[in-house]
Formats: sequence, structure tokens, C-alpha cells
Amino acid sequence: MKSQEVIAQLEQRFPGQPEYIQAVSQVLNTIEEVYNQHPEFEAANLIERLCIPDRIVKFRVTWTDDKGKVRVNNGYRIQHNNAIGPYKGGLRFHASVNESILKFLAFEQTFKNSLTTLPMGGAKGGSDFSPRGKSNAEVMRFCQAFMTELWRNIGPDTDVPAGDIGVGGREVGYLFGMYKKLTREHTGTLTGKGLEFGGSLVRPEATGYGNVYFLMEMLKTKGQDLKGKRVLISGSGNVAQYTAEKVLQLGGTVLTMSDSNGYIYDPEGIDREKLDYIMELKNLYRGRIREYAEKYGCKYVENARPWHEVGDIALPSATQNEIDEEDAKALVANGVIAVSEGANMPSTPAAIKVFQEARILYAPGKAANAGGVSVSGLEMSQNSERLSWSSQEVDNRLHSIMENIHENCVKYGTLPDGYVDYVKGANISGFMKVARAMMAQGII
Ligand code: NDP
Repeated sequence: MKSQEVIAQLEQRFPGQPEYIQAVSQVLNTIEEVYNQHPEFEAANLIERLCIPDRIVKFRVTWTDDKGKVRVNNGYRIQHNNAIGPYKGGLRFHASVNESILKFLAFEQTFKNSLTTLPMGGAKGGSDFSPRGKSNAEVMRFCQAFMTELWRNIGPDTDVPAGDIGVGGREVGYLFGMYKKLTREHTGTLTGKGLEFGGSLVRPEATGYGNVYFLMEMLKTKGQDLKGKRVLISGSGNVAQYTAEKVLQLGGTVLTMSDSNGYIYDPEGIDREKLDYIMELKNLYRGRIREYAEKYGCKYVENARPWHEVGDIALPSATQNEIDEEDAKALVANGVIAVSEGANMPSTPAAIKVFQEARILYAPGKAANAGGVSVSGLEMSQNSERLSWSSQEVDNRLHSIMENIHENCVKYGTLPDGYVDYVKGANISGFMKVARAMMAQGII
């Protein structure tokens, strides 16, 4: 396999899908060497079978807004690969959602889920519907309409969706309610559910906490920890909030958070009380991060990202391609020692190059943010057992999964000069398990 040739063919076959090509390129470029040591992979054309999703379900979602106007959105489910377990991956509701973005996410999810050591295949789905600015009733009607199309394609042993951007506890609740009504079954078909109806403790916290656990493992390799470190976080949604919470618990100072309109910089640090305010602002009132700056009298920068501020650690937790080459250069110039990705693919390929050439600690999302889907996997186990585990038990398991992922990245990603290429480590480790499973299951 020559990765450049495969990428060129995919580009021709799927024009106008830059995010998908970006994600595929990153994986192929790092697994090429290992792949070519296995001629049986090439004979089975494993690479094309691994890059192209098993199936894409696309449907129309029709719903009625509060003014009585009938609205139409696109709905999707990309079932990428189920070699190692049922399809699993979140739903994203955001105006930018298209096939390219969901294909990149489903592809990444396949390797991420493999890394977790749990039996989960890769999938992703969503809609170009954005819950922002919609009433609760509108969000509920949309979720119900979305599920009336999706439900035939999912199930506890088939495909188990969860949340992502724009899909939090409220949306999962509405989606689950409709799924239950249509199937007349109360099963663990969605994760991220409320605690009262089968959700797992620590699921809301899992992605953010997991990212910080992974970061701690990286820092440990340098004899460092979070105490006294200044941390730049982007986003102010689920992942960002619990990333900030864990950073605070471990003695770091959170200087920034953001949303799609801009970022706040609080030189005194976003402490527990201020973080509670952000959680209320975002989760209850669905307000804008600008309001934090108005309340606490700190700096707010409109239409900008926080990467030009001075800090020791950067934890991007908003969206894809939110750190470009210039941002990466600024971070390195300002002395950042570690970047750990809570979001999926937040750094562009040029930005990753800057981090790796500067030899700073850099963890890609598929390793660092795998805590979310890991606890989703644990939620599935609890649902199957009809039991619920204590938060301590779930948190311990999350911790050990993140340690394990880190160990595998080090095992497969350590370069001759001792630098750990976490991208290479995560890709090879994730890929080998899926590849072996596909080989064992024949040409299908
Ligand atoms: P939320 O919807 O809870 O929060 C998303 C945050 O990012 C919001 O602050 C949002 O701002 C901001 N944001 C979204 N789109 C953009 C954009 N185009 N430009 C700038 N800011 C943007 O989502 P999550 O916290 O769940 O997800 C954040 C990231 O983490 C995503 O990349 C997701 O794929 C990834 N992830 C999430 C997991 C989970 O368990 N939830 C698991 C693994 C990864 P605004 O409020 O203005 O929209």
C-alpha cells in the first residue's frame, strides 16, 4: 500500500470531503510501514475496506417550529466498521454537519474505540439542525422526528448512538423516549442517558476527566504534573466544562474558555465558583460566554480563539481544525509544554507538525478523548447487567483505561530518539486490532 496513492484515489472518489480526507491521510501516513509488513492485509484489500464506511444512512427530518412552520433538515448515520463490536459513536447536531464531517468522525471513532480495549465498532451521525436558539419544545419535536427515521437502524447489539456537539443529556433523553415508544423496549440503545433511566455515573464527566488523566500520564513521563500550571481551554460545552473541573481538582489554573463567538481570558483563573456559573450559563440558560466577561469584568475577545494567550498547557475542547499552523506556532513560542485534544481533530496537519517538530507532548483526540466512549461502553455493560456501578468504580475503570491507552501509545509510538509520537502510537495500536478482526472474519 502506498498511502499517497490511496489518498489520491479517495479524493477523486469522494470530492468535496476535506475533513474525511484529512482524517484518513493522518492515519494512513502513520500505519503505512506496519501495514506493508503484512502482505496478507494487501491481498485482502484491507485498506479500502477500512477507509470506506460499511454503510451511510441518510434521511429527511421533518419537524414543526413554534410558529407552526414546517422545517426540513438532513439526518445521517454513518456505520463505519463493526469488526470488533456493535457500531458505537455520537450524534452531532450543528449547522455545519455534512457527510464529510460525519465520515471523518466515524472513521476516527473506529480507531478510538479499538484503543479503549472495549468491544465497540465505529459510527457517527447527526443533523445540520442546531439546537442553539431553539425552544425546548422545538428541540423535543426535532429529536422525535429524527428518531422516527433512525430507530430501524440502531439497537443494543447493532448500533448504539450517544451525544456529541449539540447533543447533551436533554437531547439524548428526548431521543431515547421516542426510541422506547417506537420499539416498546427499554434497552441500552443510547448512552449518555439520564441516571434515572439507565445512564452511568461519570458519563457526563468522562471525556473531560479522561483527557486530563491522559495529560497527567504524558506529564509524568517528564516528571511533571498539573500543580501551578496555566491551562488554556477552548469550548465551554460538556468536554470543556469537565476538563476545567478536573484541572482545578489537580491544582492547575484555567485561564480561558470559549464558544463559537469568542473567548474569555481570566488572569485570576476560572475557579470553582466561576466554573459553576459557566455550567449554569451554558447548560441551563444556554447563554453566551461573553456574559462571563460582563459578570466578572475580564477580557473577552470576539471571533477569536485563545491560542495566542500565554499558558503551559492547551486543551482544545470545541471543534475540528480550531488550531491552525499560526496558532500552533504561537503556543510553542509562548512556552506550551503539552497539547492534549478533548475535541476531535482540533489541530490541522500543519499545526501537528509544529508541535511534533518542537518535541512538545502532543496527544491526538482519538487517544486523549477516548474516555467519553469508554464510559459509554461501561454504560452498555451496566445496562446489559441491569446494574449500576458506583462513581468510584466507573472513575477507577476510566482511569485505568486512559493509562492503558497511554501505555499503548508509548509502546507503538516511541521514536529512536525517545520522543513519543502519540499520533503514530494511537493509530498503529488502534489499527492492528481492527485489522486482525477483519482478517479473521473473511472477505465481507
Ligand atoms: P458541546 O455541544 O457540549 O460543546 C461544544 C463547544 O464547542 C461549545 O462551547 C460550542 O460553542 C463550541 N463550538 C462548537 N462548534 C464550534 C465552532 N465551529 N467554532 C467554535 N466553537 C465551536 O459539545 P462537546 O463538548 O460534547 O464536544 C466538544 C468536542 O469534543 C467535539 O469535537 C466533540 O466531537 C468532542 N468529543 C465529545 C465527546 C463527548 O463525550 N461529548 C467525546 C469525545 C469527543 P457554542 O455554544 O457557541 O456552539
